[in-house]
Amino acid sequence: TEHQRTALITGANKGIGKEVARQLAARGFAVFIGARDMAKGRAASEELCQQGYESTFIQLDVTDPVSIKNACGTFSQKADHLDVLINNAGVLEDHGEDILKLNPEMLDRTFKANVSGPIMVIQDFLPFLQKSVIGGRIINVSSGAGSLASMDTYAPAYSISKTALNAVTRQFAGALKNEKIAVNCVDPGWVRTDMGGPHASRPVEQGAETIVWLATDASQVETGKFWHDKREVEW
Ligand code: NDP
Repeated sequence: TEHQRTALITGANKGIGKEVARQLAARGFAVFIGARDMAKGRAASEELCQQGYESTFIQLDVTDPVSIKNACGTFSQKADHLDVLINNAGVLEDHGEDILKLNPEMLDRTFKANVSGPIMVIQDFLPFLQKSVIGGRIINVSSGAGSLASMDTYAPAYSISKTALNAVTRQFAGALKNEKIAVNCVDPGWVRTDMGGPHASRPVEQGAETIVWLATDASQVETGKFWHDKREVEW
């Protein structure tokens, strides 16, 4: 039988994650909609099913190790391998905050969602990625705000967390190089979502484009890199 490609997208109930799921489903992937909120996640997944796509909801709060373990259990009942993991879930809590007065609890929450979450999700879903016969791909949705050269001081906790996520990408790329699992991160640009706001320059279709490209048409040998508009960029 033909190989059914599978993809798990975290934070896929709305925004960029939801659009990435739609585009991958349209390319024939069986998609798994990770979402912390049961009702929102189910609704997003059902929307794709109604469009004739193969979609399954998986309850997944990336900050909760128990939720991640349970998500692995649910996943294993539906599929035996994972081709693409997209760590898209993320939070931006410190618009316009000052590093001099940064709330340590907010910093903790930001790091849990944007850094520790992706690490735990990769660790726990690795056995499924290792079973991909086409070579697993991990894509971490980062941000231009994480680039040290142009570091944004407008949202310090968020920016620092995305720099860390780029470093996490390098670490896993190195660790998984011999396993044929590619690990990359992406700056989607400024995208019109709840996080990006209504004045952002890009529609979600464009924000999803490079992420979907890395999940499909990009060379599988590319690993450990930071991408923007299908080009490698420095960070
Ligand atoms: P949205 O706020 O629209 O969506 C964020 C998604 O992440 C939601 O589905 C949200 O779930 C989910 N999420 C947050 N915390 C958790 C958690 N603990 N567990 C599971 N899911 C969680 O933002 P975008 O679509 O814009 O952002 C997607 C990614 O793109 C993020 O990583 C963001 O940092 C990055 N990005 C966005 C840019 C932009 O301009 N929009 C620019 C650069 C990067 P819920 O609905 O339950 O809150």
